Formats: sequence, C-alpha cells, structure tokens
Amino acid sequence: MSKKGVLLVISGPSGAGKGTICKALLDKHKDIYLSVSATTREPRVGEVHGVNYFFKTKEEFLQKVEEGDFLEHAEVYGNYYGTPKSSVQKMLDEGRDVILEIDIQGALKVKENCEEGIFIFILPPSMEELKQRIIKRGSETPESLMTRFKSAYKEINYISKYNYAVVNDEVDTAVTKLEAIIAAEKCRVDRMKNKILDSKEGFIHEQLYD
Ligand code: 5GP
Repeated sequence: MSKKGVLLVISGPSGAGKGTICKALLDKHKDIYLSVSATTREPRVGEVHGVNYFFKTKEEFLQKVEEGDFLEHAEVYGNYYGTPKSSVQKMLDEGRDVILEIDIQGALKVKENCEEGIFIFILPPSMEELKQRIIKRGSETPESLMTRFKSAYKEINYISKYNYAVVNDEVDTAVTKLEAIIAAEKCRVDRMKNKILDSKEGFIHEQLYD
C-alpha cells in the first residue's frame, strides 16, 4: 500500500496569518510535518535555530543552492529563503503530510515540479486588517512595513495560481477549512489510484479500474 503523504503549499501576504493558522493546525495534528526553511534573515526575538528557521550566512546559503539542497529558494524582502529538499522528501516517503509555508515565488517554483502539491492561499479579512496585523507584530521598521504592505497588493494577484483560498478572519474556522481541504484531497480518485492498485483487497480496484 502506498503511504505517500500530501504536500501542502501555503502562501499569502505577510500579516495574513499563515503562521498562526499553520501552528493551530499542527497543534491539532501532531503527525503533520512543517518544513523548516533556511534563511539569511536575522533571527527575531524568540526565534530558535532549527525550530523557526535554519539561520545561515549568505555564503552558507549560496553554497547550499550550489549543492542542489533546496526544493526551491527565493529572495524575499532582501533576504534568501529556501526549502530543504531531503527532509521534505523523507517525510512524504514516510507517509507524513508536509506543509511548506513559503512565499509566492517559491510556491510557483514548487508547482512546476510537483503537480500533486495542494496550493493554498491565505487571505486577510481586509487590507486594513492586514496592515494592523503587521503593525501589531512590532517586528518591522516603518520602511519594511511599507514594503510588506505594498507587496501584499501585488501578491494577491497570484491567487489564481492556487487551488484553494482561505480567508483568515477567525483562526479556528480557517483551520477547519484547511482540515476539510486535506480530507477532500485525500479522497480524490487520482490520489487514491496507487493505493487502490497496490491494495491486495482487489475488489475496489476491479470496480474502479476494470
Ligand atoms: P518572515 O521573514 O516573515 O519569516 O518570512 C517572509 C516570507 O518568506 C514569508 O512570506 C514566508 O512565507 C516566506 N518564506 C519562509 N520560508 C520560505 C522558503 O523556504 N521559501 C520561500 N520561497 N519563502 C519562504
């Protein structure tokens, strides 16, 4: 029986609440693996190396790019970010569902190579609410706040490249929607095909594929 997990790629503008939703989903589903990216950005207060990110110098990061260690990488707000390839592949092969919480450029790169990924765009309830959330986070300078806010307008144009959109007005509701997406995706016949073909209990196979 094929046990491959599903790959969920979650993007959305800074301040939409991707991190909060993903954390709430992971708290409920300990078996889901959240990929830990590498970045050249400075750690924020409270961030831990290996937990939030693998913090790298630019030289270390570019070395890893050279060695082909990333599934995708991108420059976001002047820093590099990349998804480690081997850990994601290992988790999927072990049957774990994997979340990549990455920017839009990265998501589009993953989409080119991984058609079976599930691409989910997280939206804020409104642009004003988005601005307030970034301000409240308190980690941005006025310049980086404006950069992130302006980027949000551009990023939302890419929503049509995604399979699903979830508005994050209430965390529990947004998590319920993610759970529903995962459940529905796992019921898709094209995903089940390998499982059914691998199954020794042949009658379902016969019904569907004879
Ligand atoms: P932050 O600096 O706020 O943690 O993240 C900035 C942006 O980089 C967010 O949109 C986040 O989703 C994105 N990001 C985090 N890790 C990766 C990654 O591995 N690849 C790409 N392409 N984007 C990432």
